[in-house]
Amino acid sequence: MGSWGCSHLTDKKCDLLKKECSPGEKGCVLYGKAKFANSAENEVYEKRVKAKDSEK
Ligand code: SF4
Repeated sequence: MGSWGCSHLTDKKCDLLKKECSPGEKGCVLYGKAKFANSAENEVYEKRVKAKDSEK
């Protein structure tokens, strides 16, 4: 298993969102690109996967 570190994270704060890091929320580099174990942001991810599937 690998690990990932966000380059926008500085001392628990996101330099893009200017607040505490919340992976997957709107504005985050992971928005719609990753699936989380317990997150409302998964809805965007699911839509993106469905859209990609329909392109095939
Ligand atoms: S909210 Fe997203 S972009 Fe910002 S630091 Fe966290 S993982 Fe990185």
